[in-house]
Amino acid sequence: MGIYIHIPFCVSRCNYCDFFSTTALELQEQYVQTLCQEIETRLKTNTEAISTIYFGGGTPSVLKVEHIEKILQTIATNATLTQDIEITIEANPNDLTLEKLQAYNCLKINRISIGIQSFQDHHLQCLGRRHTAKEGIQAVKMAQQVGFENISIDLMYALPNQSVEQWQQEIQTALSLAVQHISTYCLTYEPNTLFYQQLQQHQLAEIDDETANAMFDLVCEQLQQNGYEHYEISNFALPNYHSRHNSNYWIFTHYMGFGAGAHSYDGSQRRWNVSNLQTYLQQKDFYEQEKLTPTDHYNEQIMLGLRTKNGINKEIVGETKINLYIREGKLKIVGNQVVATQKGMHILNRIIEDLML
Ligand code: SF4
Repeated sequence: MGIYIHIPFCVSRCNYCDFFSTTALELQEQYVQTLCQEIETRLKTNTEAISTIYFGGGTPSVLKVEHIEKILQTIATNATLTQDIEITIEANPNDLTLEKLQAYNCLKINRISIGIQSFQDHHLQCLGRRHTAKEGIQAVKMAQQVGFENISIDLMYALPNQSVEQWQQEIQTALSLAVQHISTYCLTYEPNTLFYQQLQQHQLAEIDDETANAMFDLVCEQLQQNGYEHYEISNFALPNYHSRHNSNYWIFTHYMGFGAGAHSYDGSQRRWNVSNLQTYLQQKDFYEQEKLTPTDHYNEQIMLGLRTKNGINKEIVGETKINLYIREGKLKIVGNQVVATQKGMHILNRIIEDLML
């Protein structure tokens, strides 16, 4: 079973982000206390061993090391951890120091996911990130120096005014750092973000689909040429370095999510804590849950499976539904599985919507 810990704190808000997070850093202490209580209470009834722990956010690296230690200790006291547990923390480059990274190492955190987004200062400024290109590179090098052997970086493409040549340079810089895992996300303009407003007011121009697709094809080609396996639409890993925690979501392994906004799945029910810090801190009516119907299960299989290189079992979807996409070269059959082709990935959301009930 996996454990997800949501740390909803950020030093500042990025211009494109609609994740649940807050800049009320003064609430960290109280949050960690409540979080540990939730962990303790809910783990009491759990009998499964924990094979992955993932600190996501927000920005988990803004927390003091003592807080991370307290959370890990609470989990270890209340559950059995597998010998080869994968423990990941998401980090912002300029939160990382050699000292902090060494402390993570001592806490047996063995995977670090660094939110680089871009290696070019003008793009970082436009995105509203609080680190520079140099700090991004330094963060990766420091993690390597401290001995992290499983480092992931996030990059974004289709940024305002980004050219394919600039994206090519980003990929080259990423490759030169020789990290084990690279996630690449196409910028989307989500309502309630500054970017969305700026787009509406014509202060920003969205990259056209053709250019965004060319950027996707370029990163797929170059990373695969360099030994990275494209194992999920946004994720590339060197052999044996795929994210075990995230891969478990796609194969419906059970997981428990703790903290405001975190989701859980026990094989038949989904539960989600509300994305509201005050409600969460009061621990009153702070979560909802629902039993999944066969239709929900089917839709989730389509939604998650088609994003991965393993696809979904062809028995799950009717042949008539997929035949058109197969003829158009957007889906293909591999053994018993239906898998999206690279061309299909350009319009994957549309295919998924079409196949869902
Ligand atoms: S992108 Fe990450 S760091 Fe930026 S506001 Fe969103 S959660 Fe915080």
